[in-house]
Amino acid sequence: MSQTSPPTRVPRFEPWYKPTLRQRLSQTGAFVTCVELVTSRGIITERSSRRVLELARRLAEHPRIDALSITDNPGGNAMLGADTLGTDLIARGQEVIIHLSCKDWNRNALQSRGWELASGGFENVLCLSGDCPTSGYEGQAPGVFDIDSVALLKMFTDMNAGLEMPLRNGGRSKPMQHTSFLKGAVVNNFKLRENEVMPQYFKLAKKIDTGADFVINQLGYDARKQDELMKYMRHKGLDVPVLYNVYVLSGPASRFFNSVKIPGCLVTDELFEVCQKHAQSLDKGKAFFLEFAAKQVAIGKGLGYRGAYIGGHIQFDDYMRILDLAESFGEDDWVQFAKEIRYDRDNEFHYFEIDPDTGLSSDVINQRYLASKTPSGKKRQRGFVPLTYKMNRVVHDRVFERDSAGYNVGRRVYDKLDGASAKVRRVAHKLENAVKMFGFDCRDCGDCSLPDIAYLCPESQCAKNQRNGPCGGTRDGKCEVGEKDCIWARAYDRLKAYGEEEQMLDGKVIIKDAALQGTSAWANTFLGRDHHAGNEEKPEDSNAQ
Ligand code: SF4
Repeated sequence: MSQTSPPTRVPRFEPWYKPTLRQRLSQTGAFVTCVELVTSRGIITERSSRRVLELARRLAEHPRIDALSITDNPGGNAMLGADTLGTDLIARGQEVIIHLSCKDWNRNALQSRGWELASGGFENVLCLSGDCPTSGYEGQAPGVFDIDSVALLKMFTDMNAGLEMPLRNGGRSKPMQHTSFLKGAVVNNFKLRENEVMPQYFKLAKKIDTGADFVINQLGYDARKQDELMKYMRHKGLDVPVLYNVYVLSGPASRFFNSVKIPGCLVTDELFEVCQKHAQSLDKGKAFFLEFAAKQVAIGKGLGYRGAYIGGHIQFDDYMRILDLAESFGEDDWVQFAKEIRYDRDNEFHYFEIDPDTGLSSDVINQRYLASKTPSGKKRQRGFVPLTYKMNRVVHDRVFERDSAGYNVGRRVYDKLDGASAKVRRVAHKLENAVKMFGFDCRDCGDCSLPDIAYLCPESQCAKNQRNGPCGGTRDGKCEVGEKDCIWARAYDRLKAYGEEEQMLDGKVIIKDAALQGTSAWANTFLGRDHHAGNEEKPEDSNAQ
């Protein structure tokens, strides 16, 4: 070697040389591997926290792991913040996905977190609505749910574009320095009923339209449903990479999920029995559960997923074992595995007819579903729609629809009322409340979403105030909290009777304006102050702290 030649560097593996998740997903066709990490309670020096940190560091250093994904207070419990662990990992050059859920943070706190994460070098976020809190210091914490996962995606998409803040004078600030987040979203199609599954798909489309760069599906153990998701996305032209969720089961984990302790995560009775049988063995079923996970990785590859998203309470060597096993399978072995891992439930809705040869989805859309969408199918369903809904449609069309005669009258009336004395305005507001509280259990939010959700109030009837589609927590059509039917499942049924269900989430992202709380929603609609008017943002006190 001449003296002037630069020294040839043959480094041992350095995690810094790993490509980013964005590069892996957009510039290569590689099948990626992400591992989900759950932080524990207490500070980072607690024994359990150190265990997670050590596992994370070992995984971080391994070239087979493309990204580590860190949860945000999963199951609605307070845990060590994801950033603490994440900061250690990105300092080691590891790709990290930070989960951001709306249950514990309002929009300002989430925006602030976004700036903090971008400043700290984080690039990947997973935008979630989150589970309702289930515990808390000296009593259960309330859920925040100021915005939902779709609104959160919009916020981060806008931050990427260079956020312009509204100013007091009606203008806008100069665009801020843009962030460059790769934004993930979640979909949960492991649902029993059509009125749960279809709104999940509509919401997925909305998330992608709002800027989701990649998708992770909720855990589930039915290859037909996994296949259906990919086929549905292709059918609808939804072209973003999807990671196949492989949650590594165990005896206790299967019991936990079978009892539906985590909303939206289900182990069917049949699978539960299989798990319990294997959990009796000397190794507590470990060999079976790791192979079961490896088979799912293989199925994911075979079905066209862009990667595996592996979670569960397992050790470093277990992850390696799963990946080794997955690599050892033959190219077409997944077809047989897909026949084995078919844990669905009786009468479960599927968008596509079954392919009898593979047990997966065919290309034929569910014939009963299609029949239910014909004029006679809709007519039949209209027989089950409540009369009040039918009346609300008529009133809305005649009074609140923008081009209607009633709307013009309403606008003139509320224009006058706006200039009237406070006493007159109070009386008008009380009359409005009397009607809406009786008819809709209205909570006087002032930014009414009744027309968006088939005249069902998200403030009083949705535990998470979801305004852009259902959360992933429904259980057989029921809300994850309490025993009521999910408002979005009900809205789907109502709209479908009129052939309007496929458009239920069309339109802009709905973000409630808290400044309108306690004001007249009718006035706000007629005078163009609420989200129906185009989300015109209110002037902001630029000097406000
Ligand atoms: S009503 Fe539906 S969307 Fe709202 S919290 Fe319950 S399950 Fe989720």
